[in-house]
Amino acid sequence: MRAIVGGVPVDTFTRKELAVRFKQAAMEVSEDVHVKPRLVFSMNGEGVYKYHKDKIFRSCIDKADIVHADGMSIVKAGNKFTDAVFKERVATTDLVHDIARISEEGGFSVYLLGAKPDVVERAASNLKKIYGRINIVGTHHGYFEDFSEEEEMVVNKILKAKPDIVFVGLGRPRQEAWCVRMQSRLTGVAWLKTCGGLFDFLSGDASRAPAWMINSGYEWLYRMLREPKRLFWRYLTTNIYSLYCFRFKK
Ligand code: UDP
Repeated sequence: MRAIVGGVPVDTFTRKELAVRFKQAAMEVSEDVHVKPRLVFSMNGEGVYKYHKDKIFRSCIDKADIVHADGMSIVKAGNKFTDAVFKERVATTDLVHDIARISEEGGFSVYLLGAKPDVVERAASNLKKIYGRINIVGTHHGYFEDFSEEEEMVVNKILKAKPDIVFVGLGRPRQEAWCVRMQSRLTGVAWLKTCGGLFDFLSGDASRAPAWMINSGYEWLYRMLREPKRLFWRYLTTNIYSLYCFRFKK
């Protein structure tokens, strides 16, 4: 079910439901390689701010096939201010493990695109250490220019690797715009899934908050305390604005 949370469209998928959907679509695509990839974007408080302030980001979110509740604030606001039921938060940092398990079971293939070269390489090798049979068919860093020859090479590499899912971690809003722009190019790929700083976590360069902070919706605070210079004003403004949107934007 799709609800409007803080003025933004968000789907009520649980982790399990979303993982099942990933698997189904991969089977459909294996029967028709001309199918365009589905776009799966994540939403949190900061995303709500960006949706109302950044026209490009908004138009990308509006084109997504699935927008899942990546932030606890979306889950809480969705349950409080809409008729929809959000059973849980679906963080991409958790979802990647569900996808890795699907990959181990059935060969579902994964491509990692984004972050610095050594970071994405370490993210892939750490995933392989945990999930021995995961099918990672390629990686590429995210520091190529849009509309460049290098981008063309990246697209060709992905097409050749034929992944079921590409995790796209290029930062917001570049990653959403890239997925929308590449939807018609990357036919045969079942899913394009944005993932922000996922590879930084998987590589071990960034650490996740303790479970109690994640579950109570304070993961942003943990990140802010670790990188106050970069994140203090960003989280202050986006948090206040998103609270306003949750209450007043329908
Ligand atoms: N990133 C990238 N290419 C870019 C910009 C960012 O690959 O042109 C990667 C960056 O290395 C990081 C991820 O995108 O792994 C998230 O970037 P950032 O921390 O800037 O975004 P945030 O999620 O904090 O908005």
